[in-house]
Amino acid sequence: MKRGQPALRLKRGHEAARTHPWIFKGDVADASDVEPGSAVAVVDAGGRFVGRGFYNPKPALCCRILTWTDEPLDAAFFQRRLEAAVGLRARGHPQGAPTLCRLVWSEADGLPGLVVDRYGPVLITQCLTLGMARARPLVTAALVRVVPDASVFDMDEPHAAQLEGFSAALGWAGRAGPRTVRVTEIGATFEVTIGAGHKTGLYLDQRENRERVGALARDRDVLDAFSYTAGFACHALRGGARRAVCIESSPEAIAGARRNLELNGVTAQAEIRAANVFEELRRLERDGARFGAIVLDPPPFARSRSALDAAARGYKEINLRALRLLERGGSLFTFSCSHHVSDTMFGEICRDAAADAGARLRVVERLGQASDHPVLLSIPETRYLKGLQLEAL
Ligand code: SAH
Repeated sequence: MKRGQPALRLKRGHEAARTHPWIFKGDVADASDVEPGSAVAVVDAGGRFVGRGFYNPKPALCCRILTWTDEPLDAAFFQRRLEAAVGLRARGHPQGAPTLCRLVWSEADGLPGLVVDRYGPVLITQCLTLGMARARPLVTAALVRVVPDASVFDMDEPHAAQLEGFSAALGWAGRAGPRTVRVTEIGATFEVTIGAGHKTGLYLDQRENRERVGALARDRDVLDAFSYTAGFACHALRGGARRAVCIESSPEAIAGARRNLELNGVTAQAEIRAANVFEELRRLERDGARFGAIVLDPPPFARSRSALDAAARGYKEINLRALRLLERGGSLFTFSCSHHVSDTMFGEICRDAAADAGARLRVVERLGQASDHPVLLSIPETRYLKGLQLEAL
């Protein structure tokens, strides 16, 4: 570490940053010389180098470490990290890195504050911190070198941008690519409008779970609740489901669902109900509906710790109501993507719901996010999608 460089000094006893990249304001003894959004050397109370990250005094989470080696965060650094991330996704793929995947996932790829998703010929980038937004030219240049055949579209998440104090980018970085792309996910075709929709276009984290549902759907009636663009329903119907009912409240998502069902040639067996899942589950129960497979993939009900109680009630309610619609021998795929809801807590909520529904259930599998959203043991926050595949006895 060069002398005289601005540094962020940690308080004594606040040195979790040796293995976990997050530093909160309360951990900091001094960062007075550091310019917001710039790279900073993090040192312990004795002045010894801990790591280097981007600093921003605005949010409570004021610094995320990108490296524990004393090296500059320059173009070569980003290129090395991107090569490693792409290499990880290419492992086990005979044709190299897949063309529909999360290529970079923030902390899990040693690039906190950066997400890159690949949709065929288009890479979509999301900067989640001020530092990463400022480093974007370096990131883009490195991306173009590592994945030369793709166009890059910047699509920041407005909430994160506001929290961090930068303006959210939305547009092509350099050479424009196609406005819509068709991608294939294990045989199913999805259309994605670049720059629109939730996340970066698709919920890529559910890819492997959609495949699971497709694999057991044959001859079953399937309910896809919180269906977004009908990803689960498309896989289920391609897998031979008798019919699929999608429940979704967003008009844009419903338009996408119609398109995807059509692209997969399964429109005739599908029904989309534009409704609130909470209400629609009740209506289905009143009508005596029954399903052989049910997917519950809600948005995060708990966006903060203080919202946990209300979230738990919400999860319990939908699981209870779904269990009342499940045939004997039927499968429930139930998920929570709330960071604040632990595996244990989610399991307890589902058990409570089962008790109230009078249902006995076998745990067929504990589910999580797709493998291109890797989990780091030292960063438990990287495992955020929790799910259970349950079978009604
Ligand atoms: N299963 C989807 C992703 C679901 S994301 C996939 O695999 O692609 C959650 C979806 O639930 C979003 O599309 C959101 O618009 C929708 N949603 C949120 N609250 C809802 C509610 N109360 N009723 C119906 N849909 C809801």
